[in-house]
Amino acid sequence: MSKICVVGTGYVGLVTGTCFADLGNRVTCLDIDKTRIDNLKQGIMPIYEPGLEQLVAQNVRAGRLEFTTDFSAALKDAEFAFIAVGTPSGVDGEADLQYVRSAAESIADIVDGPIVVVNKSTVPVGTGDWVADIIKKRRSGRSLDFNVVSNPEFLREGSAINDFMNADRVVLGSTDREAANKVAQLYLILRCPILITDLRTAEMIKYASNAFLATKISFINEIAGMCEELGADVNEVAVGMGYDKRIGQAFLVAGLGWGGSCFPKDVKALAHMAVLHGTHPQLLQAVMDINRTQRRRAVYQLRKALGSLDEKIIGILGLSFKPNTDDIREAPSLEVIHLLQNEGAIVRAYDPQAMENAAAVLSKVGLCNDPYEVAAGADALLLTTEWNEFKQLDFQRIRGLMRQPVLMDGRNTWDPDYLRSLGFTYFGVGRGNTAKS
Ligand code: NAD
Repeated sequence: MSKICVVGTGYVGLVTGTCFADLGNRVTCLDIDKTRIDNLKQGIMPIYEPGLEQLVAQNVRAGRLEFTTDFSAALKDAEFAFIAVGTPSGVDGEADLQYVRSAAESIADIVDGPIVVVNKSTVPVGTGDWVADIIKKRRSGRSLDFNVVSNPEFLREGSAINDFMNADRVVLGSTDREAANKVAQLYLILRCPILITDLRTAEMIKYASNAFLATKISFINEIAGMCEELGADVNEVAVGMGYDKRIGQAFLVAGLGWGGSCFPKDVKALAHMAVLHGTHPQLLQAVMDINRTQRRRAVYQLRKALGSLDEKIIGILGLSFKPNTDDIREAPSLEVIHLLQNEGAIVRAYDPQAMENAAAVLSKVGLCNDPYEVAAGADALLLTTEWNEFKQLDFQRIRGLMRQPVLMDGRNTWDPDYLRSLGFTYFGVGRGNTAKS
């Protein structure tokens, strides 16, 4: 059993802390957001993540997990301080490291005993060294026995607990092998491959992994554009490609493109890093361009179907950037809504979990209670997030409710033949053999 402090109690910090507690460690999750911590103390989750609420409750009851805003209490006797604060995009696409800096400074100010500082936040290559420097400088002569280990996080929102507990791999980077081994001990129980590298390599593995996954999605989206024009079905193309073990099925899903709190900022940050260090990120630029095109293409399809978007009522199904999360950061829905409103469309929307987050950032969008309210009187419906709830809708009822029966399936989830048989005009993404109604 180890004593762990997790600095930053967001999607990554809360899941990491809770899972480590569940594995038998004593964990204190710390955040500067007092409301968040007060709520957590009462069992109220700051995020929607399947299974998290029960796991938190279980571990709090067992006395292994607690929450605080007090750095001294959280770091007292801690052997490990995991930094899991946000690293959002800065003005130029670079990762904004102000929260990492502040977390490192707080650790330096408070800790006295030996400690391993574990960086879980996604940070530019070289940040581990930078964090070590910050801590040293901040101590200004007061010695501290510490090491920095990079431990990038690969969990996916919506399946985060499972991803932590059944990780494909754990990556640890450090200039000090012993420190990396100590962190490895925490993960041994998961029985997954543990790769120990130097600090910078571990940091790069995270960016390269996210950029590669984003590339796969943009690749299939580029193919989708061709399928649309050439009369092929990209869903089947992806299946046919994916049977090849060298390619695999995962992330070959055409649609409105990638979003969320990680891919957009990480691809941007990697491209920024490349430019900063004199290399030209041609592929990454194309990956980002294709992603933007997907949103514009959906609006183009709707405009084409409806003549003009001015004063047309467009219903949006799904606001979160993907199913099973309430996270709307960089969600495709937000960009599409913006583009639609720009052309004079009247937008309404519904999401099973993200309504509260969406209400805080959307303006002039009618927020509805269910998909049928969205459909009532609408000129078109656009599926932006493939929540299970939207897969088996009562389309006969929807057909009766809509002013014009136009469906744009931004996630290639619905059955085109069935919907056309009900009298809908159906558009998917890259479903060329069926897109012409
Ligand atoms: P988040 O925004 O959900 O949470 C960050 C938390 O850190 C917030 O609660 C904030 O109040 C807190 N915080 C900020 N400064 C602090 C400080 N000085 N001390 C204590 N707490 C502080 O962020 P997230 O989505 O959990 O992401 C965290 C990091 O993990 C990012 O670098 C992200 O790129 C990376 N990551 C995220 C995911 C994901 O799916 N969300 C997956 C892998 C990696």
